Amino acid sequence: MTDCLFCRIVAGEIPAEIVYEDEQILVFKDINPRAAVHLLAIPKIHLTCLEEITSEHQMLIGHIMVQLPHLARAQGLPDGFRAIINSGPGGGQEVGHLHVHLLGGEGLPGFN
Ligand code: 5GP
Ligand code: ZN
Repeated sequence: MTDCLFCRIVAGEIPAEIVYEDEQILVFKDINPRAAVHLLAIPKIHLTCLEEITSEHQMLIGHIMVQLPHLARAQGLPDGFRAIINSGPGGGQEVGHLHVHLLGGEGLPGFN
C-alpha cells in the first residue's frame, strides 16, 4: 500500500478515467480539467519529479513524449496541444508522481 495518489490509480485502488495504458505508462483525464482536453500521462513506476530522472529512464520518458501526439489526435486535437511538466515544489507540482499534462481545445488558457 502506497500513499502516492497516482501509484494508487496505477494499482486500480482509486478510480480514474483512463484513456490509454500500456506496460510502461498510464494516461487518464485530469479530475479538474483546465481545458476541454486535459490528460495526465504518467510512468507506471514511481518517479517523483524530473530531479529523479537518470539515463536509465530515457526510453521511458521518450515513450511518453512519442505517445502525446497520438493521444491528442485521439482526443480530437488534430492541430496541436500543450504539454506541461511541473517539476518539484518550485515548479508548482502538487502531486508527487511525475506526470505530463496534455492540454488542448476549448478553454486553453494563454501561456503568457
Ligand atoms: P501538478 O500541479 O502536480 O502538476 O498537477 C496535478 C494534477 O493532478 C492537477 O491538475 C489535478 O487536477 C490532478 N489531480 C489531483 N488529484 C487527482 C485525482 O485524484 N484524479 C485525477 N484524475 N487527477 C487528479
Ligand atoms: Zn507514485
